Amino acid sequence: MPRPQRAFRTQALILKRRDFGEADRMLTILTPSHGKIEVVAHGARKLTSSKTGHVELFTCADMLIHNGRNFGIVAQAEMVTPYQPLREDLQRGAYANYVAELADRFSTLDEPDDSSLFTLLSETFERLSIVDDPRLAIRYYEIRLLDVAGFRPELNECVFGREAIEPEDQFFSYAEGGVVCPRHANQSVRLTRVSLNALKILRHLQRSSYAHIAALTIDAPLHNEVERILLGYITYQLERKLQSIDFIKRIRSI
Ligand SMILES: [Zn+2]
Repeated sequence: MPRPQRAFRTQALILKRRDFGEADRMLTILTPSHGKIEVVAHGARKLTSSKTGHVELFTCADMLIHNGRNFGIVAQAEMVTPYQPLREDLQRGAYANYVAELADRFSTLDEPDDSSLFTLLSETFERLSIVDDPRLAIRYYEIRLLDVAGFRPELNECVFGREAIEPEDQFFSYAEGGVVCPRHANQSVRLTRVSLNALKILRHLQRSSYAHIAALTIDAPLHNEVERILLGYITYQLERKLQSIDFIKRIRSI
C-alpha cells in the first residue's frame, strides 16, 4: 500500500520481532495513528548496534521511520517505556505475549487507527508490569479489545427477541455475539450457558473503569466461567476473521 510521507516519527509498541537477513530484525509494531505496521531495524542483532536496546519486545519506543520500497525502515529508535517486568518475570512475560498476540490478530496491517488499540495495549502492559494477580487485567483487556475491534458482545438484551434480560441464568451465542434468554434458547444451536453471576461480572467489565475492576474479588470457579466465555467468543471471532482472510486471498488469486 503506498504511503504518502517519506518519513514519520511515531511511538511504537513492539508486538513481534523476527530475524531478517544477516543482522537485521523485522518488527511488527503498533502505533497510535498508523495502526499496525512492519518495519526493518537494520543491524539490530549486532552487539554493537545502538538500536539493539531500543527494539526489545513489549517496550514502547519513539521511532523515526523511513518508507522503504517494501517495508518501513527504522532510522532512529529511543526507548520511551521499558515495561521491564514483562521480560524479567516468566508469568508476566507469558501474559504480555498473549495480549500482544491478540492485538496483532485483531488488527490489520497498514490500516490507520484512531489510537484506541494503542492506548489499550500500553495501559495493559503497564498493568501487567505491576499487578500481583494479572487475571482481572487480562479479562478487562479482552472485553475492551472486543469493543475496539468491533465485536462488542450484547449483554443487556436477548440477541434473538431484543427483550431486556431477566435476572436468571442465561445462554450466550458466539455466532450472534451476545446473551440469549432461556425462552429463545431453542432457536439457536451452539449455545453456551452463562450463569447470572458470570453475566454480572461481564457487564461490570464492560461498563466500569479499570480502577473499579481491579478492586473486585472473584472466586476461582466464577472467574473460570467468565474466562471460558470470553475466550470462546474471542476464538470464534478470530476463526471467522481467518476464514474471511483465506476467502479474500482465494478471490484475489482467481
Ligand atoms: Zn429472548
